[in-house]
Amino acid sequence: MADKPIKSDPGFVDEVKALGGINVEACFNCGTCTAVCPLSSGASSFPRKMITYTQLGLKDKVLESPDLWLCNYCGECSKSCPREAAPAETMMALRRYAISQYAPPGFSSFSRMIYRSRAFAWISMILISLIPLVLMLGLHGPINSSSVLMFTFFPEHYIDYIGITLGVIILGVMLYGLGKMYYMTTRGMSGFQGEGHSANGIKWLQEFTKTLFKEVFIQKRLDQCNENSKGWRERLNSEWFTHMTIFWGFIGLLITTSLGFLIPSAISVPLTNGLYIPVTEPIRLLGTLSGLLLVYGATRAIINRVNKSEIYSSHTYFTDWAFLVLLLLAGLTGYSLEIAYYVNSPLLTYALLTVHLIVVFDLFVVAPFTKFAHALYRPLAIWVSRARQYIETT
Ligand code: SF4
Ligand code: SF4
Repeated sequence: MADKPIKSDPGFVDEVKALGGINVEACFNCGTCTAVCPLSSGASSFPRKMITYTQLGLKDKVLESPDLWLCNYCGECSKSCPREAAPAETMMALRRYAISQYAPPGFSSFSRMIYRSRAFAWISMILISLIPLVLMLGLHGPINSSSVLMFTFFPEHYIDYIGITLGVIILGVMLYGLGKMYYMTTRGMSGFQGEGHSANGIKWLQEFTKTLFKEVFIQKRLDQCNENSKGWRERLNSEWFTHMTIFWGFIGLLITTSLGFLIPSAISVPLTNGLYIPVTEPIRLLGTLSGLLLVYGATRAIINRVNKSEIYSSHTYFTDWAFLVLLLLAGLTGYSLEIAYYVNSPLLTYALLTVHLIVVFDLFVVAPFTKFAHALYRPLAIWVSRARQYIETT
């Protein structure tokens, strides 16, 4: 990597403390945390290195390191720290810092404020909720109270326009963040940005596919952290299983919604017997099962956090709560809507549709600034880390 001046920011440690790195200054660099971490290795040595960077104010070093995202927040390091410096919390705080720094200008300040001020976060959430509420109140059609005419009440193409506009903005924010992260974690390294890039194309593709399968689809590293959960009962209660249910529930609902948009007849054409699409219809069935997974995973995660049963669930930020509660509400309002629709209760259906759309809108707006962001940044970091190791050893 090309040499460049190292800048130190004395205020960085206070910023990390404000983001949850509650006791980072207590660390005296013994290295116990790195020794016990199940994911740290010679090439990717953390969390001690990240804590040292923080104490020295080396914020660029933090943002340039993919190691930040290799941590799965299992809490083992915090349990073993002789100084109670809470290294797991510092790693989490650094990820919040990174999320705010990778965001586009404007979104970056918003992100920092929702992490730092609970009042700002609450007010923002209320204002964000008002957008779909005002749209629903202003744009809705006739209210038929004798039978459910959902898309007469709120035409489907309005939902599509709002969804597409929101999706494009959120996708733009996420792609910007991923691009900035890629730039920062690879700049100056030959093989990434410059010579050698094309020569390593096949290797990059192989590593990318492996990362996608192992780290996204089956979340192997998180499973590695739950190595004590060998029996089925422990496995079903593990953080890994909770993550998997939320991830696959979310993906299933995303696929259902996309198919509903691409093949509208699959979810919106009423049958002649007064009911709508049977629950056994494949797309609807996929949505129902995915919703179950999502509700199960979000409920488990919330219970763990309320009980503070593990170190990783003992310090919950407002944004973590917001994401989990919105996930759960999205699932529950979706099911309630489905039931009201099937029992042909018009006014209840319209009210639930309004609440459901507000919740889903909020969920997507805040997603890039909550724990959801790690679902994007972590796989990229793991891929960059592997590719960096490959370059350094060849
Ligand atoms: S965080 Fe704790 S265990 Fe890790 S190096 Fe510092 S004092 Fe040692
Ligand atoms: S929280 Fe777990 S994965 Fe993260 S640094 Fe600590 S021991 Fe390693």
